[in-house]
Amino acid sequence: MHEYPITEHIIKIIEKHGKESRASRIESVTLVVGDRSGFIGDSVRMYFDIIAEGTLCEGAELIIKPVKSQFKCPACGTVFYRKPMSFACSDCGADGAPTDTGKEFYIESITVEQEVL
Ligand SMILES: [Zn+2]
Repeated sequence: MHEYPITEHIIKIIEKHGKESRASRIESVTLVVGDRSGFIGDSVRMYFDIIAEGTLCEGAELIIKPVKSQFKCPACGTVFYRKPMSFACSDCGADGAPTDTGKEFYIESITVEQEVL
């Protein structure tokens, strides 16, 4: 499961951000995961709770925003979502090519609980 190291990495980034903003804990994290990113959101979620133990992320809510791949037709330029088992353009039926939409994998936002000074 190659989501383990990437989840570790994500938590390190969040921890750094949390420390810099003097957070007492992380409330929630929003992660954008494209369906062609190579990572499975559910696996990240599974590892997140395990790795977060004892860090600022412990108990944080992990919100995963899935992004569906988009394809672009080379013949007519239509941008479309592919149907299962097919790459056919929804307009003219030519085979579409993948666009960058669906390759996303990034932290969109982090909500922290501030230390009471
Ligand atoms: Zn087309």
